[in-house]
Amino acid sequence: MKLYKENQLKIYNSLSKTKEAFKPVHDGHIGMYVCGPTVYSNAHLGNLRTFMFFDVAFRYFLHLGYKVRYVRNITDAGHLENDADEGEDRIAKKARLEEIEPMEVVQRYTVDFHDVLKKYNFLPPSIEPTATGHIVEQIEMIKDIIDKGLGYEVNGSVYFDVIAYNKNNHYGILSGRKIEDAIHNTRVLDGQSDKKNPQDFALWKKADERHIMRWPSPWSDGFPGWHLECSVMSSKYLGDKFDIHGGGLDLKFPHHECEIAQSKTCSGHDPVNYWMHTNMLLLNGQKMAKSTGNYILPDEILTGENKILSKAFSSSVVRFFNMQANYRSILDFSSDALEASEKGYLKLMEAMSSLVSLSPQKSSSVDISQWKKKCYAAMNDDFNTPVLISHLFEGVKFINQIKEGNASITSNDLVDFVTTMNAFVFDVLGLLNDVKDQASGKIDGVVSLLIKLRKEARENKDWDLSDQIRDELLSIGIQLKDGREGTTYSIS
Ligand SMILES: [Zn+2]
Repeated sequence: MKLYKENQLKIYNSLSKTKEAFKPVHDGHIGMYVCGPTVYSNAHLGNLRTFMFFDVAFRYFLHLGYKVRYVRNITDAGHLENDADEGEDRIAKKARLEEIEPMEVVQRYTVDFHDVLKKYNFLPPSIEPTATGHIVEQIEMIKDIIDKGLGYEVNGSVYFDVIAYNKNNHYGILSGRKIEDAIHNTRVLDGQSDKKNPQDFALWKKADERHIMRWPSPWSDGFPGWHLECSVMSSKYLGDKFDIHGGGLDLKFPHHECEIAQSKTCSGHDPVNYWMHTNMLLLNGQKMAKSTGNYILPDEILTGENKILSKAFSSSVVRFFNMQANYRSILDFSSDALEASEKGYLKLMEAMSSLVSLSPQKSSSVDISQWKKKCYAAMNDDFNTPVLISHLFEGVKFINQIKEGNASITSNDLVDFVTTMNAFVFDVLGLLNDVKDQASGKIDGVVSLLIKLRKEARENKDWDLSDQIRDELLSIGIQLKDGREGTTYSIS
């Protein structure tokens, strides 16, 4: 039986602002869309937090036996410098400043993004579509919105008519913003704007002569508005009604609000059943910003090359640190906080390494089935990873007690216990055991030393010692092989 049948998930829905029982559109299947990066600079740590949380959610769905289609897009066109449809395209600007092709910018930072995610042990999404790969579909959606009477063209650009949409729909349903407030809070646009109302947003922008990223359309040579790609790509790959849409809290308005308006205009219904948003990551209590220098890249944590850090940390320590906080809470990143997480992580990994050597007894003094229920209950409660981690540490206590002979476990319970610990620590949280890696590094050092001593013994014609080293290593499963390039070894 699939695990999801006995685990009722509850998800905090940003739309209703309550935890709701999760029911997928199609039984046993999940469609999840997460807004990916705009690839004009290195992925920063705040982005990483968002993607890491959805990686863990994805991993848990898979663990429960769901068939998941996880779509995370790459924004490689249309994202302007500010959200009011003004300013240069972020990628085009970077290309101009660095005197390279926009697609070189896209390639460079897409590769960087994948590289970082690999180092942090992310599972790849099922589909990773790009905005530039879906220009045709975006033009089709604009035509549909114009046909429905909610898009209008002015001077080659097309805008979404928010006021007209709001007559029969609720613009602000997700963010809680009132359209009247939006009018007052929107900066008065200079006379050059083509918009009927300042809160309208661009579906298509006519490109001026200098703009290098441009495509032909019925309205002008131009480029799509930023919000459009997500409506297009989510409906293309997940259908016009799908389960989960995620992203950082900063995307709630205007990006996700606009997505709902576009999608609902085309399909006639709400596109998403559960909206999920991850909270901000602070750095030393302050907002991260390149301009103030309060900024750190995921790669710098692995090398320790940032003055904010006392030393380098492994990617699993960063993952563990992230999972110690609820995804809906603000998280404050600092070197001290990472050091504290590292202690907990190492303790967990040491226990995981000794898990295999526990011996079963005739009876159990620990209640594994009760403990296991608590682990699942934590994750079923809106992915409460900090509570899950506290239960995993109860597991660590079991391991140490059993090891020291202060508790006992039957072989059936032991199998269940090992399986559950491994599933949550490695499969769901996505941690890697660096401690084991350190241990294998130490073995390598010791065997290399013995190989050196054996070589010296052979040079001194001390065949007894040389054979003794070889035979004793073999007796513990380490086989030496003498070759032309020297001696190597394998562990059986
Ligand atoms: Zn998006």
